[in-house]
Amino acid sequence: MSENSAVISKEKIIEALKPINDPEIGRSIVDLGMVDNIEQQDGTVIVTIKLTIEGHPLKHKLREDISNALMQVEGVKGVELNFTSMNPQERADLTKKMTGQTSSGLFDNAKVKHIIAIASGKGGVGKSTVTVNLAYALKNLGYSVGIIDADIYGFSIPRMMGTNDLPTVIDNAMIPVTKNGIKIISMGFFIEENQAVIWRGPMLHKTVVQFLTQVYWDKLDYLLIDLPPGTGDVTISVAQTAKESQLLVVTTPQPAAANVAQRVAEMTSKVDLKMIGVVENMSYYSDGNGNKQYIFGKGGGVALAKKLNQPLFGQIPLETALRESGDKGKPVGLTGNGKAAIEFKHIAEKIVERLNGN
Ligand code: ADP
Repeated sequence: MSENSAVISKEKIIEALKPINDPEIGRSIVDLGMVDNIEQQDGTVIVTIKLTIEGHPLKHKLREDISNALMQVEGVKGVELNFTSMNPQERADLTKKMTGQTSSGLFDNAKVKHIIAIASGKGGVGKSTVTVNLAYALKNLGYSVGIIDADIYGFSIPRMMGTNDLPTVIDNAMIPVTKNGIKIISMGFFIEENQAVIWRGPMLHKTVVQFLTQVYWDKLDYLLIDLPPGTGDVTISVAQTAKESQLLVVTTPQPAAANVAQRVAEMTSKVDLKMIGVVENMSYYSDGNGNKQYIFGKGGGVALAKKLNQPLFGQIPLETALRESGDKGKPVGLTGNGKAAIEFKHIAEKIVERLNGN
């Protein structure tokens, strides 16, 4: 060591490395155990980083972030980085740390505060639209939100959220895609587009369990699950795996639709899911002169809520912008503009109030 190169404390180096996140996992490389070795020679810091996998796709980003951070440390004249990769045991430890899996294989409820499964009696009533816009409304209220797209009859969440990204898979752990701060996992991520898949019971159950126990949700205030319409295996799997889940039912105002939705709601008592309330969608159309037209009839939401003894959280109007924004991958809930978006905000507020009051 030359005379004028003082020893830089290891604590200082670790302190500088701590704010650096693994670009895929989004958590500190220090906390994840990726900093393997630190040495120094004549003011040059030599750090060995253990990557999660060999050929980490964002290695260059890590290199840049680490070099920049270490060059800020007093006394550092140069940085040398070596990369190795974790062995299978180290990776297993890391994924366990990430997902918070319990030994029973059940969902670690401590990290996700509320799970809301969103159901409907039949398809096309706007269940996915409600899921996506409610997610944004909750996010705009300051909550952290994730979505599981489990509607096996059409995985519309990635399209509505406007993302083509794919999740990162490290061994058994999945890192969800993040769009505008909302974490998303979809069964659609794992099948080819337009590929017809017959999801059989055991496979469905396995996938739902994986989404609940092997996805790195980290801390979430609300995890919304877009269920398939009707009563079915997915709902049962959710109820069995995440025992604290709550059910929100979406219906249109037609009495017939409300009756079908009622059957779904009634199933919850059999599978131990807790009902939290009803949202009516496509309630009316405003013609611009303040007149409301009840295209799909009237009263279904109120009647259903009454029958179930649950609150009707809101009535969402038919709105061209709501459909178009979903098609374009920029849901109205993102900006909060328009009547439907305002109604989603009210619904989110009421849900928060109900869940925090319970
Ligand atoms: P589901 O998930 O119940 O099958 P979607 O959310 O996919 O239903 O909605 C079906 C279609 O109806 C989509 O094209 C969506 O944009 C449209 N839609 C849903 N709710 C509304 C609404 N309130 N106003 C206008 N279009 C809507």
